[in-house]
Amino acid sequence: MSSSSCVAHVALLPSAGMGHLTPFLRLAAMLCHHHCHVTLITPKPTVSNAESNLLSKFFSAFPQVNQLNLHLLPSSHTANADPFFLQFDAIRRSCHLLHPLLSSLSPPLRHLSMSSFVYDMTLISPVLPVATAIGVPHYILFTSSASMFCFYSYFPKAAESTFDGDGIDIPGFSSVSKSSLPPQLLDRDGIYRKLFLEDSPKVTKLHGVFLNTFEEVESKTLKALNAGEVVKDMPPVHALGPFVPCYEFEGLGERGESLKWLDKQPNGSVIYVCFGSRIALKSNQIREIGDGLVRSGFRFLWVVKGNKVDKEDEEKGLEGVLGIELAERITKDNKGLVVKEWVDQRQILDHSAVGGFFSHCGWNSVIEAAFYGVPILGWPLLGDQKINAEFVVSNGGFGIWKKDWGWEGERLVRGEEIGDAIKELMRNESLITKAEEVKMAARKAIGVGGGSEINLQKITEQWKKSQ
Ligand code: UDP
Ligand code: UDP
Repeated sequence: MSSSSCVAHVALLPSAGMGHLTPFLRLAAMLCHHHCHVTLITPKPTVSNAESNLLSKFFSAFPQVNQLNLHLLPSSHTANADPFFLQFDAIRRSCHLLHPLLSSLSPPLRHLSMSSFVYDMTLISPVLPVATAIGVPHYILFTSSASMFCFYSYFPKAAESTFDGDGIDIPGFSSVSKSSLPPQLLDRDGIYRKLFLEDSPKVTKLHGVFLNTFEEVESKTLKALNAGEVVKDMPPVHALGPFVPCYEFEGLGERGESLKWLDKQPNGSVIYVCFGSRIALKSNQIREIGDGLVRSGFRFLWVVKGNKVDKEDEEKGLEGVLGIELAERITKDNKGLVVKEWVDQRQILDHSAVGGFFSHCGWNSVIEAAFYGVPILGWPLLGDQKINAEFVVSNGGFGIWKKDWGWEGERLVRGEEIGDAIKELMRNESLITKAEEVKMAARKAIGVGGGSEINLQKITEQWKKSQ
């Protein structure tokens, strides 16, 4: 740790959804542990209860972190779009309010000038002029893999073609097949594609890019990025992960029903099923998953989401989502627990009863599974998730992915297929060994003298010196 008496002051600006907020809060905790002074800018109101609950726990655990509320202007898009996209848009439209907000930092901070500003990957274009005007070094936290960052950086070049061929060859990386391209990017008029094309060329204007990954699993990709092979003039790309779930603000409070149930199950016997914070599958697909879980014969802990945003979740009870017949089969079989609420995924993956994870391959979930050494059955459903699933299978080697299941809603994946895939995952000893190796590598990266730990230390030292 630094012997320097200067304090680095870092302002952080996350974007919408748990997949973006969680890594920011974990980074904030790491920076506090490295003796940085942290200001967290919180866009208000949040989309989901999960986000506002996590923020409250964070500020109780880290009272030294200064909070600045960014009161959002409404989004310019129609209300029936994805609520998380609407929020991205609202935050982007409100970024001009950042300058006055940051200039009026509260009295305890007045003696500190800002050493750096770290903001979400979805905010490059609107934040860039503000950060430049303040004259502070600024970075993005790219909340996905180095592989996805390669794709993101190279996309404008690739978009010059029509993707009629087999996919995209990325210099220094491998190729991304057409079927793995985030589907929203194929829509020429889509907002997602517009944002990519507007923001991506500006990465060269950043002081650096932070990634929640580690050298041991993405070294080739990180080298190619840093050597300017993917995009010329790429600023330094720093692997700082895995961002470890933080005991201090995550999972505070009671051990819920799921953990108490897991306590009673044998070691490695349970498959945990959760598709992240923002995917609600159609009810016919939910029922096929239930059928597959029962057919597999394994014990399971299944988190079902009835709605995209948890605020609306009270409407339908569990039986309403599962249907009476499936609910009865599950009860009769007595091998599974189904919950329709936010669970503490960190503690679940860390539980010795859990032997596999049926996941949508959201990047945070992948990294958490890597950190706790849990093999994955991947079913990527949207966005970057196929690129992440490819990582699980090829780089990490700690999971399987049934490519013919397609994206969310592409086809109905039958219970029989799901049951077979679960058996394949849970019976594969070599995946357990591989997951254990990845876990060791993950812990080494953030331990004393580990690659990610050294990267973080170097950056914070640099900020402290520049004070
Ligand atoms: N998560 C959780 N409990 C839940 C659902 C999700 O703790 O019931 C956490 C999970 O541990 C991860 C985050 O929410 O940290 C989801 O992020 P991810 O990138 O995996 O997926 P997204 O929700 O962005 O699709
Ligand atoms: N760790 C953490 N949060 C977690 C899990 C781990 O901060 O949820 C850190 C913790 O500092 C610990 C290290 O990662 O020293 C190794 O984690 P492990 O779960 O093996 O902790 P242990 O069981 O050794 O206490």
